[in-house]
Amino acid sequence: MQEINNLWNILLEKLELSVSNVSFVMWFKPLKVIDLNDNNLYLGAKSTFAKNQILKNYFDKLKSAVDDVFGENIEIEILDPSEEVDYLSKNAPKTTNRDVEVNKNPFNPKYTFDNFVVGKSNQTAYAAARAVAENPGKHFNPLFIYSGVGLGKTHLLHAIGNYLRQENSNLKIKYVTCEQFTNDYIESLGSASKTKTYSEFRDKYRSCDVLMVDDIQFISKKISTQEEFFNTFNDLRERAKQVIIASDRPPDEIETLEERLRSRFKQGLTQDMQSPDFETRVAILRKKCQIEKYSITDEAISLIADRIDSNVRELEGMLSKVCFLSNLIGKTTADVGDAKEAFSDKYEEKNEGGSNADQIISAVCEYFDISRDDIVGKKKSKDIVEPRMIAIYMISEMLELPLVSIGKIFGGRDHTTIMHARDKISTEIKTNRKTQTFINEIKKMLTSG
Ligand code: ADP
Ligand code: MG
Repeated sequence: MQEINNLWNILLEKLELSVSNVSFVMWFKPLKVIDLNDNNLYLGAKSTFAKNQILKNYFDKLKSAVDDVFGENIEIEILDPSEEVDYLSKNAPKTTNRDVEVNKNPFNPKYTFDNFVVGKSNQTAYAAARAVAENPGKHFNPLFIYSGVGLGKTHLLHAIGNYLRQENSNLKIKYVTCEQFTNDYIESLGSASKTKTYSEFRDKYRSCDVLMVDDIQFISKKISTQEEFFNTFNDLRERAKQVIIASDRPPDEIETLEERLRSRFKQGLTQDMQSPDFETRVAILRKKCQIEKYSITDEAISLIADRIDSNVRELEGMLSKVCFLSNLIGKTTADVGDAKEAFSDKYEEKNEGGSNADQIISAVCEYFDISRDDIVGKKKSKDIVEPRMIAIYMISEMLELPLVSIGKIFGGRDHTTIMHARDKISTEIKTNRKTQTFINEIKKMLTSG
């Protein structure tokens, strides 16, 4: 079952953000999924010691990540190596990671140009990436791509890598994260280990035809790594070797970045990507279903695309979860019921104090003494418009509902209208005492029940 491995990878990504780097690398990352059987998730630990450490100190974190990603009815069983052998000898697991052959290709085979869905939000970045892949070193050097998390930067870098490997297998392509580059550099300086010397480091990075560095924002504050990267960069560029960089922010917003490096970054093409719109989100989900061979109804896809509107990684995570839950109860096609089920934990958590959109609307109407029909209706007079915007703001802030869903509540308004209303009030709160008071008093009405 491919979904299980996908979900496990999503879970690891989440854990990585919520635990310290050391505990992640020591305890969570080495865990292997052995099997998922009868609602039991069997995980293999590296040693009995590791197993006990996890049970003693990290189980709660692990459990809540499993609840979040796999659903709450899944029990965790951690096996040490001998228990694993035992388990495997008695059961033919439905899924296993152990026998996946080691893939020499550093690029994820699924991250290709073909699998990248192009929409308004990313079409220029996509075109630039393609141009660079087709003619490395000729067009934009460096190509600097930036976007918020989970919007496809790493996917595009891998797509360039996959394309180049296929079209031109003689090219030396190097893909590293900023972290890897930094660690490599630091190790090469350590005189204790003569196994990796600085000249080897230099050769490795300067002999490549295409160098890609992912998540460059982490270079901020690392002054000597910046220096080394600057030199590597210049050396490559002088010889028309292609450099491609991904970052979660533009060069100007990377703090304590040396000016000369900043201006180098800006020499080529700096291109951003935005969150995909609804249609693109649907197309991404469809593509994903095709790749992973998921079966799911259109209605369920729309629901997911409607409720998750910023991050493609989360979009994919939810799709896997929906298909997984549906599979678990023996269905062959996931439907909108499964999607609602998968969302239910998420939305209960967010409804602080049990306020839902209806309650918020009622409280706002009561406070301003207007009718429900008016607040969700079309009237444009000031005494209606302001309460309406306040209600929109409060629903968006307290329930974190997607804009599209809020638009539906308010008589099918467009999500951009909702966004403007929300943003207007969130600025007003900072400047206008009266707006502040309104909102505080309505909140009090809501919490006092
Ligand atoms: P980033 O590096 O920007 O944080 P990733 O490249 O890791 O984001 O993307 C997160 C996930 O979303 C990946 O599985 C990727 O394949 C997927 N993804 C992002 N954008 C797209 C897109 N336009 N089409 C298809 N999949 C996408
Ligand atoms: Mg990335």
